[in-house]
Amino acid sequence: AKLAGRNCIRVFSRELSEEIQRRVLLEARLKQALERRELVLHYQPKREISTGRLTGWEALLRWQSPELGSVSPDEFIPLAERSGLILPIGEWVLREACRQMRAWQDAGLAAGTMAVNLSARQFRQMDLAEEVSAVLRDTGLAPADLELEITESSLMDNLATAATVLTDLERLGIRIAVDDFGTGYSSLSYLKTFPLHCLKIDRSFIRDIPGDDNDTAIVRTIIALAGTLGLTVVAEGVETEAQLAYLRANRCDQAQGYLFSRPLPPEACLALLRAGPRR
Ligand code: C2E
Ligand code: CA
Ligand code: CA
Ligand code: CA
Repeated sequence: AKLAGRNCIRVFSRELSEEIQRRVLLEARLKQALERRELVLHYQPKREISTGRLTGWEALLRWQSPELGSVSPDEFIPLAERSGLILPIGEWVLREACRQMRAWQDAGLAAGTMAVNLSARQFRQMDLAEEVSAVLRDTGLAPADLELEITESSLMDNLATAATVLTDLERLGIRIAVDDFGTGYSSLSYLKTFPLHCLKIDRSFIRDIPGDDNDTAIVRTIIALAGTLGLTVVAEGVETEAQLAYLRANRCDQAQGYLFSRPLPPEACLALLRAGPRR
């Protein structure tokens, strides 16, 4: 048993050091990724459930490294967050998404709104609204066409700055969505005090509907809550017709997920936009 224990420790520490090495490597490569143009945005459409109409897009970051292959944002975003690299990367994402949206509009296409994910670190910047305002000015995108997605947990981790930053963003005329809603926090009082426009029901609650009684209860409660507060409610991760039918029957406003489309490179979005607003 002793021997096994020691082997265990050896295996464990080797795995740990491999993990640390990968992190160090990723971070070094990520630093160069922006200037080497290895980062690109894909866009996933959102649709109104009752009509099938396209309501907008969510920009999702993709990193295609020549050396490491494609790296998932779930792996590199937390790294970028820890190292602070998320600040220049996040600003690039915002600028690129707004530029793309404006280009579609200039081509005469009805593209809806563009949603951009904000990390906790970005949200902690007191001058965030100034940065956003500068990007809108430079790209010529109207504030009403931009939505910022902030996770429930990063709202809660930054209560001191949240009120100020959200109020400044609201003044610009930007929409704010609470991302991963239902996973972050037990208190709902912030929903009343912050200027918010949209709740995105986390994918984990959508996965097992309509079969799972707990999840259907949670989903119905979130939809009702959003209705009471006058917020738009969006279900993320919708993959099946049965999930969509359940959401429709319970009057969820919008849906996003593989059932409609995976996140697409810009050329494919253009084709979808040219095909018209209906599914
Ligand atoms: P998120 O904001 O919750 O984004 C939704 C994720 O679910 C995306 O993963 C999307 O591709 C995936 N997804 C969409 N529909 C479905 C579906 O029907 N089924 C399943 N299984 N998955 C679906 P992705 O693109 O890998 O991004 C993962 C996370 O990385 C995002 O979660 C977000 O937290 C973060 N992220 C991505 N891009 C950015 C960015 O530009 N900035 C920041 N700060 N975070 C980002
Ligand atoms: Ca999101
Ligand atoms: Ca989400
Ligand atoms: Ca998520």
